[in-house]
Amino acid sequence: MAPSYPSAHPTDATMSGDGDDARAPHVVLLSSPGMGHVVPVAELARRLHAEHGFTATVFTYASSDSAAQRAVLASLPPAVGSASLPEVPLDDLVAAGAAIETLLSVEAQRAVPALTALLADIGRASNLVAFVADLFGADTLPAARAAGVPGYLFFPSNLLMLSVMLHLPRLDAEIEGEFRDLREPVRLPGCVAVPGADILGPLQDRSSDAYRWMLHHGERYRDADGILVNTFDAIEPGAAAVLRRQEPWRPPVYPVGPVIRRPDDGEDATGCMEWLDAQPDRSVLFVSFGSGGALPAAQMDELARGLELSGQRFLWVVRSPTDSGADPGANYYDGSKSKDYPLRFLPFGFLERTKEVGLVVPSWAPQVRVLGHRATRAMLTHCGWNSVLESVMHGVPMIVWPLYAEQRENAVMLRHEETKVALRPKVRGLILGEDIAEVVNDMMNGKEGEAARNKVAKLQEAARSGLAPSGISHETLTELVSKWKNT
Ligand code: UDP
Repeated sequence: MAPSYPSAHPTDATMSGDGDDARAPHVVLLSSPGMGHVVPVAELARRLHAEHGFTATVFTYASSDSAAQRAVLASLPPAVGSASLPEVPLDDLVAAGAAIETLLSVEAQRAVPALTALLADIGRASNLVAFVADLFGADTLPAARAAGVPGYLFFPSNLLMLSVMLHLPRLDAEIEGEFRDLREPVRLPGCVAVPGADILGPLQDRSSDAYRWMLHHGERYRDADGILVNTFDAIEPGAAAVLRRQEPWRPPVYPVGPVIRRPDDGEDATGCMEWLDAQPDRSVLFVSFGSGGALPAAQMDELARGLELSGQRFLWVVRSPTDSGADPGANYYDGSKSKDYPLRFLPFGFLERTKEVGLVVPSWAPQVRVLGHRATRAMLTHCGWNSVLESVMHGVPMIVWPLYAEQRENAVMLRHEETKVALRPKVRGLILGEDIAEVVNDMMNGKEGEAARNKVAKLQEAARSGLAPSGISHETLTELVSKWKNT
């Protein structure tokens, strides 16, 4: 049995279960709020247990509780426990309208005292060998030091974004003005060149709190004993070659992915799977903007018009429009439910006119199951890294439609010569229905879509063989866990 740690009482942190499990190496993982963080952290814990004999505890923050998150944590095996850290006050920041990056960073800092006490208790009760926090958790690493174990980071994005973060202190000193005004793309060792305007969203306003927090994390990352990354060599070969080298100025980097979510078991209340069962093989475009993404109302109208104009089959996860369009706003903490009924924002008559070819579902779909269904041909995605990896692992090529965070960087990478698994619509301000219809038809029936499909099949193969015993990602994790077991 796994240890079970109630949320608010560090002193209750006791081991349960048989003697063997109590001596199994134990790892504590901490996930920032947001399904894009919780899912890969939980899956990493599952893998550490299933493939390397660890027991684990996954800590989440009190602010991040949601039905979708509970379902992910409840699906973990008994040897992987989960618990919420005690609540810390954030009202001051919420009242001040703080950005997501600020909220996630401050919540991590304020949770350190409770986390330190919990890790000490867990260390006494189990064979604790390592602590792993995610990308907003660098400030929690001293809690690992206090418990006498190494502190690692798990980066749920890719090596391109990690490179941006690790080089940010230098870039901050060198660059004048804003990233978006740079005349030349940003070129980091081994990485694809990224136009300044496509660099990480929170870095686009250097006077903002969000920017200062990202810079702070970039500096703190150097304190980690190592950084695990949810990526694999074949999807960013240049960056992998560079970051796999040991360098004195930064921690060792371990590409151990793809770590992706398992398909949800059980009944599908959304109706997606039943509808897909009735569609021809490889005929449907899946349209999803991740766990929090939403479009401005005018852009949502154009997307509806474009899908209708294309005449292709589609399955669209619709979320109520947002005015900003550029950040996940209120959807961030729980995008699986909407305040308003989102389908009422669709153009008049759209549902009736497209009912023979389309299914529209409000807020949430069982994405991994959809991507794995024989009827799915391509995905229109906001380029959240989990969605990208899930698409690749199922051999599904993409149409890129980045919204916020590092999604523009991801879109650049997916379209680059060395990867090329995605198409993108023409962007002239608002993305017009005609341009959407054109890219959808290219993807579903055109030559470029065919080429992307062939490329993604190769990446799928590389990802799967990398995870198999003796594959490169599997071996990388094995090397790291043997280090943990021997500390
Ligand atoms: N997801 C899902 N159903 C949805 C929307 C999202 O299951 O309708 C899952 C998706 O499979 C992925 C995660 O939520 O595992 C979203 O993570 P990603 O990194 O793609 O984007 P984010 O939500 O962090 O922007």
